[in-house]
Amino acid sequence: MTSNTTPSPDAVAFADRIGELVASMRSAEAELGAVLVEIEQRGVMELFGYRSAARLLEHLADMPKPAAERLIKRARLVNPGRNLDGSPIPALAPATGAAARAGRLSNPMIDVITSVLAQVPPEHCVSAEANLLAFAEEAGHKQVAALGARILAHLVPDGDEPDDTEPVVPTRELFLRRKRTGIWELSGRFDDETGARAHALLDSLAERRTGDEGPDFRTTPQRYGDAFSDAVDLALNSPELPMQAGERAHVMVAVSLEDLKSGVGKATLGDTGTMTAAEARVHACDAMIIPAVLGDKSEPLNLGRLRRLISAGLRRALFLRDRGCAFPGCHRPPRHCQGHHIRHWADGGPTDLTNLVLMCAHHHRLLHRSGWEVRIATDGLPEFLPPAFIDRRRKPRRNNLHEPLPFTA
Ligand SMILES: [Zn+2]
Ligand SMILES: [Zn+2]
Repeated sequence: MTSNTTPSPDAVAFADRIGELVASMRSAEAELGAVLVEIEQRGVMELFGYRSAARLLEHLADMPKPAAERLIKRARLVNPGRNLDGSPIPALAPATGAAARAGRLSNPMIDVITSVLAQVPPEHCVSAEANLLAFAEEAGHKQVAALGARILAHLVPDGDEPDDTEPVVPTRELFLRRKRTGIWELSGRFDDETGARAHALLDSLAERRTGDEGPDFRTTPQRYGDAFSDAVDLALNSPELPMQAGERAHVMVAVSLEDLKSGVGKATLGDTGTMTAAEARVHACDAMIIPAVLGDKSEPLNLGRLRRLISAGLRRALFLRDRGCAFPGCHRPPRHCQGHHIRHWADGGPTDLTNLVLMCAHHHRLLHRSGWEVRIATDGLPEFLPPAFIDRRRKPRRNNLHEPLPFTA
């Protein structure tokens, strides 16, 4: 340092360079967010076979899912949305989106502004956004948050009135609804004892994963969501479950053999609705849903029961070979897994070790819906070929996370 008052030309040049690079990072991230929102609106499943844009980003960019989710959530607030019928929904904070694409706003700043605007009455949104953005030109996000708090105190003095008139409700209610998007929503009310038992059950399944694969980045709601899915699987596999015609009661799906083979068409699911034949194919792959396969004249064919079921002995051999979900990087243990037929039994694939791979429900679905492929290598172990959009060379990958068993098969 040559002087306390005048920075050296080097320091000025470095500072300018940092400013330029930070602006282009921010601008690129805002553009990335806009692209992902566009992909979401066109349908992540339709375009890539992935369940969410966050999962896609996790694989494409090796970005931890929570970070991907934060990026997408932020992008949804500053980019225009679209209703299911295609009609546009204006962005909550359009001017903030423009400033972000110009590289002028940090992520904490965008989060502060959007969280204030989400609470401002709609008629004051435009002016509140303009005030916050003007202040953001010269102040840090903490100061802008303080201004936001003053705006809110002025516009929303008391918050909402507490609702004391709630009627007495039954102590056990559960609502499980399928939305048109294919997402299910679960809500309910339970007595204290049921609630405490459910909590204890989910707690035991939602523990953070530990192991060589690194930290568990799932958020708390994600861990409990996975725990709920596991609890359903465990209950479905329980011997206590009521039997139906000598078989474990799963969900019945009626699908024609032709549709099951092609994966095109519709299947009838229980008495609640329909699913695509592609979806029925995933379920028919192992055991979660018993397909009633229908012939030309809708007469039930017995094929499913004869050829599909994996015997207890074969399942044990599969557990010993794969030791859990075989998908690269997955640590799910065998009890969470299903058998995937590499060549579907409906297409004549045999139910034996050379045609089966153990997979968790999540990766099983991913395999059926995306460009991932699996094969048994010459050493008898499964390996996965990523889709070309992840790796152009499609170099096979394996799961090396499962510990070898303490005994030999
Ligand atoms: Zn499968
Ligand atoms: Zn898996």
